[in-house]
Amino acid sequence: MALTGIQIFKLLPKTNCKECGVPTCLAFAMNLASGKAELDSCPYVSDEAREQLSEASAPPIRPVDIGKGVRACKTGGETVQYRHEKTFFNPTLLAATVASDISESDLETKLKIWNAFQFERVGLNLRPELVAVKDAGGDKDAFANTARIIAEKSEFNLILMTEDPDVMQAGVEACGFKRPLLYAAADATADAFGEIAKDNDLPLAVKADSVEALIPLTEKLTGMGLKDLVMDSGSREIKQALEDQVAIRRAALKSGNRALGFPTITFPCEMASNLDTEAMIAGMFVAKYGGIVTLSDFTGESVFPLLLERLNIFTDPQRPMTVTEGIYEIGNPDENSPVLVTTNFALTYFIVSGEIEGSKVPSWLLVKDSEGLSVMTAWAAGKFAGDDVGVFVKKSGIMDKVKHTELIIPGYAAAIAGDVEEELPGWTIIVGPREAAHIPGFLKSR
Ligand code: SF4
Repeated sequence: MALTGIQIFKLLPKTNCKECGVPTCLAFAMNLASGKAELDSCPYVSDEAREQLSEASAPPIRPVDIGKGVRACKTGGETVQYRHEKTFFNPTLLAATVASDISESDLETKLKIWNAFQFERVGLNLRPELVAVKDAGGDKDAFANTARIIAEKSEFNLILMTEDPDVMQAGVEACGFKRPLLYAAADATADAFGEIAKDNDLPLAVKADSVEALIPLTEKLTGMGLKDLVMDSGSREIKQALEDQVAIRRAALKSGNRALGFPTITFPCEMASNLDTEAMIAGMFVAKYGGIVTLSDFTGESVFPLLLERLNIFTDPQRPMTVTEGIYEIGNPDENSPVLVTTNFALTYFIVSGEIEGSKVPSWLLVKDSEGLSVMTAWAAGKFAGDDVGVFVKKSGIMDKVKHTELIIPGYAAAIAGDVEEELPGWTIIVGPREAAHIPGFLKSR
């Protein structure tokens, strides 16, 4: 039974030392009760209190680690129903499917194509994480061999999909070192799959034919000592599948239903007859609340929009994406290279730096902390004022790197030119283009 904020407060040290990031123990207790804080944030909880608080502090949706290596990933761990309440933490994982009877050469070709789907955006590498191996015909050697090739020859992590415990055991022996997700324990196979997952310390998916029918299954498996579960409510009809996702999230977060406090796996690949429709359904699950989305294939036009959608949804809406304040060298600049200044909003930085790079004119780009605001917004909010920019340029150290005294400011901040000049006596302030797309032409014409 979850504890109330006041009950939790009684177990805290009550020193209001603020080390947990909030001003009082009471505020921390309230956050803990509503799932917005983690017990580990308070270093002073006694062991006795920790034991009593473990129920209250456990995340309402368990975070489950899947895979190893550079594409190791986590699903679940969410604490709010709606992103604007706080943020979503662990992006929906994207999986493509292969049948276990695929030939080795076809599999290697697919892995090579899929591996190339990596996209740089705002300093992040966006890419899918998982390949699901689907048992075709119950041949455990073929299943194990396909799993082994994926595990050994690619960065992808795996979902092993079979209804046969013997086939699953063979798959686990082939790729268990990569911590695959086992899919799926059903009524008839819960004991056998539960044992395999427990013996190998692997995450296990649970499949039922409704949300209600998941509850006894997860209770049985947690009773066996399994903690890392992923749930499939069984529906392959779009409306029902969406309703199931919402009901599961609501039950875990609002009603504190521990039996449904696990991430979900969804199967657009079994809900549509073509990849375009699959991708649209997958988009729905990225927004509402699929932990894993399984497609029949990855293509650039399906996976790229899904990666962008999840990037947008799984970023903190209260914290703009930023880059670190400082001097950025683009294309080996020297003492005669132009000096530009902009704000630290990540999108602004990557667009501006991309255009400078495209111009092939080696340059110094000064990035001033503007609390993650774009140039126009930062200027309007007083975060990119002329005197501030001038002081920043002086302190940045750029004067030790160049022997000229020209600074290019963004066109949208033309109004600050006079103030910057006052702060930087002897410097010439040049107003650059308003649009980043015009930067290459501007730099080349100087
Ligand atoms: Fe209270 Fe612990 Fe937070 Fe300090 S760190 S204010 S003791 S809850």
